[in-house]
Amino acid sequence: MQIINTIIEVNDHLDAVREKGLSIGFVPTMGALHEGHLSLIREARKENDFVVCSIFVNPEQFNNKSDLENYPRNIEADVDMLNDAKCDLLFFPSELEMQPKIKTESFDFGGLEKVMEGKFRPGHFNGVATIVKVLFEIIEPQRAYFGMKDYQQVVIIHKMTKDSKLPVEIIPCPTVREEDGLAMSSRNQLLSKSDRKQAATIFKVLKMIKIHSGFSTINEIKEYVESQFRKSKNAKLEYFEIVDMYSLKPLKAWAESNNVIACTAVYIGDVRLIDNIILFS
Ligand code: AMP
Repeated sequence: MQIINTIIEVNDHLDAVREKGLSIGFVPTMGALHEGHLSLIREARKENDFVVCSIFVNPEQFNNKSDLENYPRNIEADVDMLNDAKCDLLFFPSELEMQPKIKTESFDFGGLEKVMEGKFRPGHFNGVATIVKVLFEIIEPQRAYFGMKDYQQVVIIHKMTKDSKLPVEIIPCPTVREEDGLAMSSRNQLLSKSDRKQAATIFKVLKMIKIHSGFSTINEIKEYVESQFRKSKNAKLEYFEIVDMYSLKPLKAWAESNNVIACTAVYIGDVRLIDNIILFS
């Protein structure tokens, strides 16, 4: 695998790839890689001739300085994993390299950014879309791979790509989980041993509500989720929403949509974790 730090070199390298008529699959990440990221690399490997991964801890998408400072970084291990997964090129730019490219654009996401993550992390999706757009313009992939774990992000990136008329196909990939159901996340390594155990509650609750969703009202489900997290002493529910999968509008009754997903963010100790489950589609 080639490791490239500058935009000029990545352009040269990828021009040569394109001249050979090879398709490019792209996986943008913030590093501290795990099996979830690697599943995206493998999917890209299957569908493209050439696979590019980027590692860039994007300061634009952090609305909390200590969250940015504490974000895990482990480039040596990341490189080993990407080599094993047969990634062709790692783009690993510094902040200094990316800064001149980042024009703070104000995107219109049509309200998709007003709920859930967007409500609790103001400016987060504008920061994500800004960096993803810059990366798409540098890499010019045919396909880009995103995890369903960050469901709202997939919907918003899809809209940004369409509105910006970028010729990139956005491919959503399933959430990879630990044995106890916890969605893999770079942030999981920040959990203490007891909090790590506690964190498995999140997916347990989501699985339980999927079973109940045919029989209970949305309000009853919400009350159930709130009560489950009130019970656990180190967990704090930030939000739990049942929304339409496309508009992300919160639903009051099941009849309002045929494509329904439940999304949540929970603090386990100081670590903020998100997850979701499709209820109907
Ligand atoms: P991040 O490094 O957290 O920005 O994530 C980079 C990409 O990996 C995003 O598209 C995430 O949705 C995806 N991702 C993170 N965790 C998982 C997971 N457990 N399963 C599948 N994809 C994931």
